Amino acid sequence: MLRYVRVDTEADLLDALRKDGARLLSGGTDLIVKMRSGLVQPKSLVDPAAVPELRGIETAGGDLRIGAATPLAEILASREVGERAPLLADVLRVLGCVQIRNRGTLGGNLANASPAADSAIPLLLYEATLEVVGEGGTRSVPVDGFFLGPGRTVLERGEYIRAVHIPASRQDWITFFHKVGRRRALTIAIASVGGLAAFSRGSVAEVRLAAGSVAPIPLRLRSAEERLAGRALDEEAVQRAGALAAEEVSPIDDVRATARYRREVTRDLVARFLAQAAGA
Ligand SMILES: Cc1cc2nc3c(=O)[nH]c(=O)nc-3n(C[C@H](O)[C@H](O)[C@H](O)COP(=O)(O)OP(=O)(O)OC[C@H]3O[C@@H](n4cnc5c(N)ncnc54)[C@H](O)[C@@H]3O)c2cc1C
Repeated sequence: MLRYVRVDTEADLLDALRKDGARLLSGGTDLIVKMRSGLVQPKSLVDPAAVPELRGIETAGGDLRIGAATPLAEILASREVGERAPLLADVLRVLGCVQIRNRGTLGGNLANASPAADSAIPLLLYEATLEVVGEGGTRSVPVDGFFLGPGRTVLERGEYIRAVHIPASRQDWITFFHKVGRRRALTIAIASVGGLAAFSRGSVAEVRLAAGSVAPIPLRLRSAEERLAGRALDEEAVQRAGALAAEEVSPIDDVRATARYRREVTRDLVARFLAQAAGA
């Protein structure tokens, strides 16, 4: 029989996760779907919603700390998030629907490790780190390095994400996020691109690009970024960066789109962002 265990402390959480067949349940918006389709069959579901360390949004210095089990709706409503990580708020606004955002969490979105996990894009761009807890203690894991493949992360058995840390970042970022899906609302990305760019005297001072649903994991588009650093964003640079981004991804054909279409969308979205940034 499936057991539901609600814990109040991290010690109890660690203890409950140690048991054979135990699975952490946050909002359940991914896990319950997988259980219903028979993909996973846990013996117990461990709910961390009452553990204070996994809840809430705090600022320390310029950094933002978001508890992994904080509902997405709460993050979206946070003034601190809007001010310090506006791209995260923009992305959460188009993640799922009200019901999904009321239940779903950042911890669940990341640990589920879908190549289409929307929150991964702003977190990769802000160079966020995850506070990961296990029997051996706490470790800090950069989001860029957390994903290993579809459904696979560096989390070891019994480990969980306690919080997401977003470092203070520049205020002059021009931000971009666009996901292409099969419909306008409540859509899982066929391809998505996010970007941050800042300029100094007409040249790119810094640019960061990331893409989702176009590789086994959400990823930074480093070749395109490197190509752009210190350059003026003229038409040639914009098109070249789009082409490099399309080369950097490794999409697949699936029920939602072909690999070729995903590559084209990646190239076009990168070029669209850069053209917009150049004109801003
Ligand atoms: C109708 C619908 C629409 C959706 N739309 C989108 C969308 O637009 N974009 C998108 O990215 N996703 C979407 N999703 C997927 C899902 O809602 C999100 O991924 C959500 O953020 C998952 O969070 P959760 O708290 O519900 O995770 P859960 O289902 O509770 O958990 C998911 C997995 O993560 C593990 N886990 C949960 N929390 C932690 C933690 N703190 N530490 C370690 N492991 C943990 C669980 O054990 C489980 O394996 C959608 C889902 C549905 C059903």
